Amino acid sequence: MIDRNIIEKFRDLPTPFYYYDLDVLNSNLNALKNESVNSGYKIHYAVKANSNPKILKIISSYGFGADCVSWNEIAAAMAAGFNPGEIAFAGVGKTDKDIEAAIRAEIFCFNCESIPEIEVINQLALQHNQTVRIALRINPLIDAYTHKYITTGIEESKFGIQTWELDEVLRRLSEMRNVNLTGMHFHIGSQITRMSVFQSLCTHINELQDWFISRNVDLKVINVGGGLGIDYENPDKSPGFAEYFTLLNDFIDLRSGQELHLEPGRAVIGQCGSLISKVLFIKNGSNTLFAIIDAGMTDLIRPALYQAHHKIENLTSEGNVYRYDVVGPVCESADTFAKFYELPETRRGDIIAIRSVGAYGEVMASRYNMRDLPGSVFSDEI
Ligand SMILES: *Cc1c(COP(=O)(O)O)cnc(C)c1O
Repeated sequence: MIDRNIIEKFRDLPTPFYYYDLDVLNSNLNALKNESVNSGYKIHYAVKANSNPKILKIISSYGFGADCVSWNEIAAAMAAGFNPGEIAFAGVGKTDKDIEAAIRAEIFCFNCESIPEIEVINQLALQHNQTVRIALRINPLIDAYTHKYITTGIEESKFGIQTWELDEVLRRLSEMRNVNLTGMHFHIGSQITRMSVFQSLCTHINELQDWFISRNVDLKVINVGGGLGIDYENPDKSPGFAEYFTLLNDFIDLRSGQELHLEPGRAVIGQCGSLISKVLFIKNGSNTLFAIIDAGMTDLIRPALYQAHHKIENLTSEGNVYRYDVVGPVCESADTFAKFYELPETRRGDIIAIRSVGAYGEVMASRYNMRDLPGSVFSDEI
């Protein structure tokens, strides 16, 4: 719920902007911290979900590690107070420049996605006279039952090392002196809402554990990645950390001395953000009414890219309900937030909130049409 007093303050601010409710963020982080302390599992916040410096500072203050997909993310995480010794570096296409910077920063681990990548890391580590920790990102061939663009663990996916390559990986690793295999890593997709998907992942991990043990390979770290979904229909609902941790605890068979690592992104930050926008025009279409707002796909691309549905609220009208196509100003038909969507009678100047946009919102903003980037406003600043 967005507080009435705050809505009054929105009227004077230039739109569109991301509004972050820090009470929601802190409550999510406290819940996550509790689960992490009780279970002993380690958290690496997935920085790509939201790398706003103020958000990163708050998250790092809880003592979590970070999961990054570029050197710039690693640098931003370190600037926000994350300890490099708790930063994992993932991604299928790490550049030499990024790898070298990460070697120099002495990060926790490189999560590797192919044999050629491991060879390059080994070579660069040798040049820096260092030995670095790596984990294998393994593609477990599990369908995450989520949108195809955010499914990452199926056969045709570009992500991860296939299980049939593992023998070859171990053979090659035995000849490399500057990488040290410390773990296995998984990330099968995002916005996963079926708990059975995570249960399948646990089963697969247990089988792989047996396989590695049969080859006398001791892995200290099991990293299950991120992916826990949120309820986009109910923006005020908290993420289901308790259920998720219980499931991991029930189904993953950790060996003695092993650590379980998690990389939540969306679940940490998704429900904290709303995109606040003003209505520019109401326009008659042949079968519909268009509510044209000043936020567009450049500010929030999820509906255009993933056909994502976000709850939309008119914060300043209590009139009769009509159906609107809520659209942005960008010169693309995909610049549509919702079709035939029920809102109280909507007029020029009304304030619209698009909810649950804290994750993969602001970070994906672009300047197409030479539009300004959206601003950000925090609940403790207004
Ligand atoms: C994106 C990503 C995450 C975070 O995923 P969420 O669905 O936001 O929790 C975690 N790990 C890796 C490797 C990722 O690429």
